[in-house]
This record gives sequence, C-alpha cells and structure tokens, in this order.
Amino acid sequence: MPQPGAVEERRFVLFAARLQDLFDSLKRHGYQIIAPVVSDDAIVYQPVDSVEELPAGFTDEQRPGMYRLKRRADKAFFGYVVGPHSWKRYLYPPLQRLWQAKRNESSDLQVVHDREQPARYAFVGVRACELAAIMVQDRVLLGEHYRDEHYQQRRENVLLVAVNCTHPAGNCFCASMNTGPRVRSGYDIALTEVLDSKSHFFVVEIGSERGNTVLQGVEMQTVTEEQWQQAQQVLEGATKRILKSMDITDIKELLYRHLDSAHWESVAKRCLTCSNCTMVCPTCFCHTVEDTTNLHGTVAERWRKWDSCFHIDFSYIHGSPVRVSEASRYRQWITHKLGWWQDQFGTSGCVGCGRCITWCPVGIDITEEISALRRSEEGKVAHTLPKEENHANA
Ligand code: SF4
Ligand code: SF4
Repeated sequence: MPQPGAVEERRFVLFAARLQDLFDSLKRHGYQIIAPVVSDDAIVYQPVDSVEELPAGFTDEQRPGMYRLKRRADKAFFGYVVGPHSWKRYLYPPLQRLWQAKRNESSDLQVVHDREQPARYAFVGVRACELAAIMVQDRVLLGEHYRDEHYQQRRENVLLVAVNCTHPAGNCFCASMNTGPRVRSGYDIALTEVLDSKSHFFVVEIGSERGNTVLQGVEMQTVTEEQWQQAQQVLEGATKRILKSMDITDIKELLYRHLDSAHWESVAKRCLTCSNCTMVCPTCFCHTVEDTTNLHGTVAERWRKWDSCFHIDFSYIHGSPVRVSEASRYRQWITHKLGWWQDQFGTSGCVGCGRCITWCPVGIDITEEISALRRSEEGKVAHTLPKEENHANA
C-alpha cells in the first residue's frame, strides 16, 4: 500500500490522447483495470480494457433522491463524480464465500477455506472521498484487534489511480469533511484532468514506487509551470463549487446529547428503512453470515453477505430485534456513522461522498438531519419526547 511521502514528489503531463498508454502499462504489469463505465443510466465501476469504455463526455446531476446522467459539451474523461458503486464492491464484495465443506464417498468431511488469490486490481478514477473511505475501511478491517484476511489480500494487491474532482455534484460535501475534492495521500498515481479549447491533458503525480513502476514506459513530459497552474485553477474552482457542507464541530457529542430526541420520529415518518443508504455507502461494512447445503447433504457452504442496520432482523437477538422502530434504526445508523465510529476506530465513518443522499428514494439528507439537531438546540424545535412516547429506544 502506498505510504504518503514514500516517493519524492514528481509531476508530469500525460496528454489525453495517450491515456491508453497508461491502461496498456497497467495490463502489462498484470493488473485488471476497474474503471467508471455507463451502465443502466448511471456511472458504475466495472472491468475495462480500453479508455474507449470510459464515460467520456458525460456528467452527472445529483440532488437528494435524484441522479441523472447528462451529456457534456466536451469530451472530458472524468467530468462527473461518484455513482451508486464504490470500490468496496471489489475490496469487500457484497457476496463472499468463506468456506465450503464436502463429504466424500467414504463419508469423510473435508473443509476448504476460500483463500483464493484475488485479481490484482488497478482502480482507475478513485476520487478523494473514496480514497478516504478506503482508509476508513482499512482501519475497520485491518485494525489492531481484527484483520479480515479476504479484505487484506485484495487490498494489498490493489493499485490506486486517483482522479482529482473537477466537477463536484450537488450532494458532495467532502470539503467540510476534510476529505476532498483534492487527493492528498494514499494513492499510487493521481491525475488532474485539464481540458480547454486549446489542450486536453492530465497532470500526473506519483504517490508510490508501485505507481512509479507502472509509469515507466508511458510517454509523459515534465509539467510546465503554466500547466501546473492550470490544474491548480481547475481544482480551486471545484472546491468553490461545493455548496453542501456538514458542520462537524463536536458532532459526536451533539449526537450523544440527542439519543432521546423527538427528531428521530420525524425522520422515521420519511424513512422507508430500505437500506439503500448503507448499501451505497463506501464505508459501511455490516454483514450477515448464511449457511447453505445442497439437496444431497454432501456440500455445505458459509457465505458472507452485506447487511444493513436498517433491516429489522439485523439486531435480532434472544427472540426479538433490539431496534424495532424505524426511528431507532435511523438513529443507530447516523449516530454510529458520525459518533460511535470515532470511539471505535478513531475516525468518522462518513467521508462526505453524498451517495446516501442521492440514492435515498425519499431524499433524506444526512447533512440536513445534523442541521436539524443543531437547530433544535437553538430552541427552534422541541427535541425531547416524554419518556413514555420515546419510541426511538424501542
Ligand atoms: S434513509 Fe433513505 S435510503 Fe436510508 S433506509 Fe431510510 S429511506 Fe432508505
Ligand atoms: S454516510 Fe453518506 S455521505 Fe457519508 S460516506 Fe456514507 S454514503 Fe457517503
């Protein structure tokens, strides 16, 4: 994994017409490229071979509960932000077989643990908030007390080609979470796309020896001061266009003060507990484990599947779920994400990517819910229910 500062800072220019050279080099070095593509009217992450498959000339419009792909007036390769997929789909797959047991003809059982050598992925187009999300999952899944060996194998093999965001969408709030729109560390290679009437190029920054190795043989030039300044202007413009924000001052304490807030009931009136927000979130890691057998009783398997704290049976224990009400499930999610996560892992569980806002069918906005809690402390909204009416604890 790249370590910040491991390689002396080096910057180059790669002309857009030569982007395929980078893809070819990645393939020569044995990487399977995963990159943005258009599928089902959204930009998702899939295996690709050629830059021809990238969503050049597309952008995305995002608002609470709304996502639309639109055509751009130019042919920018990365003129959009994040869609419903995140890289966790490849590092921590939605469905993972953990082991298989087989009974042979003499009725002996053989247990096979799935430790397959996963593909060496090169993720191309990783945004700053997504790099931050991968770092968050590293803390959870490669932490001191627990190491997920499936995640570890995939993570150690992955090469990260980051792309600085130049066209943030309406639900991005990375700037207020200190995670974007510019990548700072944790990448192997970082690209900034510059496109104007005269030129189309990428400023390339090398973040690791592995990235440096891949770039050997890719035809690039040393960046000029003018090209560097052009890239900086594009990035400053992107930062200014991020309009959404979340005030994270003492956010953990804010949430802990509101465990009994009436506000959760108001969210519950809107929330469908569909779990979309947790499925699209790049940091959510909750899962369940299911065992299956074949009809002959000769093969049994254990599978890990993504699960969600919004599902009523997620907290099932001793004959009943712990969190019965919708209010308690929304409170659990947001309080864990922004509060308890800090106690458990020393980091926020939110990186400000905005996916949970875009893909919530009723447009519930995590930043708005935090603002509502803050307003309630200013006395604008009554926020505490009498004990007997407090269903958030149910
Ligand atoms: S907040 Fe939105 S996306 Fe999340 S469970 Fe509720 S309705 Fe679904
Ligand atoms: S909680 Fe929402 S905005 Fe934060 S990282 Fe998850 S999906 Fe992105």
